[in-house]
Amino acid sequence: MAPLDEVVATPVMGIGRSTGAAPVDAPVRFELPDGVSRPPPAGSGPARGARDRWYARGAMDLRDSPSEEKFRDEVRAWLADHLTGEYAELGGRGGSGDETFGFEVRRRWELELAAGGWTGLGLPVEHGGRGATIAEQVIFNEEYVRAGAPGRVNVMGEGLVAPTLAVYGTPEQQARFLPGILAGTELWCQGYSEPGAGSDLAGVQTRAVRDGDEWVVTGQKVWTSLAHQADWCFVLCRTEPGSARHKGLSYLLVPMGQPGIEVRPIRQLTRTSEFNEVFFDGARTAADNVVGQPGEGWRVALATLAFERGVALLGHQLGFQREFERLVAEAVRRGLTSDAVVRQRLARAYGELCIMRYNTLRSLSGVEGPVAPPEASIAKLYWATWHQGLTELAMDVLGAGATVLDGFPYEAGDFQRSFLFGRSETIYGGSNEIQRNIIGERVLGLPPEPKGTQ
Ligand SMILES: Cc1cc2nc3c(=O)[nH]c(=O)nc-3n(C[C@H](O)[C@H](O)[C@H](O)COP(=O)(O)OP(=O)(O)OC[C@H]3O[C@@H](n4cnc5c(N)ncnc54)[C@H](O)[C@@H]3O)c2cc1C
Repeated sequence: MAPLDEVVATPVMGIGRSTGAAPVDAPVRFELPDGVSRPPPAGSGPARGARDRWYARGAMDLRDSPSEEKFRDEVRAWLADHLTGEYAELGGRGGSGDETFGFEVRRRWELELAAGGWTGLGLPVEHGGRGATIAEQVIFNEEYVRAGAPGRVNVMGEGLVAPTLAVYGTPEQQARFLPGILAGTELWCQGYSEPGAGSDLAGVQTRAVRDGDEWVVTGQKVWTSLAHQADWCFVLCRTEPGSARHKGLSYLLVPMGQPGIEVRPIRQLTRTSEFNEVFFDGARTAADNVVGQPGEGWRVALATLAFERGVALLGHQLGFQREFERLVAEAVRRGLTSDAVVRQRLARAYGELCIMRYNTLRSLSGVEGPVAPPEASIAKLYWATWHQGLTELAMDVLGAGATVLDGFPYEAGDFQRSFLFGRSETIYGGSNEIQRNIIGERVLGLPPEPKGTQ
């Protein structure tokens, strides 16, 4: 891994010491507090030797190995060649909270990525993936964000269903579904949450019954991201009548474009509709489209959740870093780096960003496959809280202007969109309260929370 001082593209401000008012557009540097050393600069020959000696003193060595360096060069070169024209014009947009932006172009970009062999990075080669190591996946994500490539459209398919099928799917399911996911031609959505089953997912009530060679699904899902774009949905549903909690559930793969499914968009704070209510009223899927044994869907569903928290996190964090850098530049532009409180808050945000990165690298090192629950909970709690705080700081930096939209077509700006969508980050993927419960019980060994009597 490249060390942080190389990764940070340097905008602005002396952190850790008072340098007085920063003139607008002044060149900006990150300075470490006195007494904290940084590695000697990169280079070859004697320079490389100095860095080797620095790391040999016990500092965590996050440098790329020679083969990782080669991989990084390959990723950079491919992105430089292909991220052009309409793809470059997207300006890196289309991420969380911005999913509707340039959707069709981003769909074409998926095909381009697939043709270049950049989908299914971590998936074993025998399943059509690239078989990349964790370090290589991290490198790809870092370079992807650094290049300003657009938000991906099939995260649910590639990041959640594909690895789940690789582990739990039958050879027939793998042969049927993996090629479409990896080619970027079949999009997926996740049908877990229901009005009465969110944090308490074992409360799922949507049911499926066998009718000859098919399952017939009835019930309601909610907050289903991109259900309006998806071709398929992985649905957690109850297949054993009278069963309770995590018993008697099955993990079904259900085609979306059929009369038994109605998708109703939910309008969000950002004024877009990325998630939906999904009503199943006699929707059908083939009997073979159950992953794992019928009635044992809970185990499969948890495996999918674990994949949700893997290496994509680091790319995510590089996105945060770029947002932080833009915010610092904005603060400089507004002459706010002479404001002691703003300076202090930016400095704190930067320190916490570094902590987040090193903790993620630590929890990923030596890990192949999904990240284990306690580390995943700590990481989720940390990044969601940190990022929400950064978006609040951004609103303070923008001042009163943060409360109004620019002229027609009255779209929220980057910071405004991030602030509005940021409210959901401490909810989806397991809310902060749930993460704290997991950390309390499984990491700190505190007594379990009292269970309800229902
Ligand atoms: C942007 C976004 C996208 C989403 N995409 C999807 C998707 O694609 N597919 C999907 O299936 N779901 C999706 N979700 C749903 C998400 O998983 C749920 O919102 C989340 O699990 C919380 O469930 P809930 O909304 O039902 O809230 P609830 O579980 O009802 O919780 C309400 C409040 O009570 C708190 N709470 C609940 N239980 C406890 C407890 N035991 N201890 C302490 N506090 C507790 C929660 O922290 C929360 O503050 C998405 C959500 C968002 C916001």
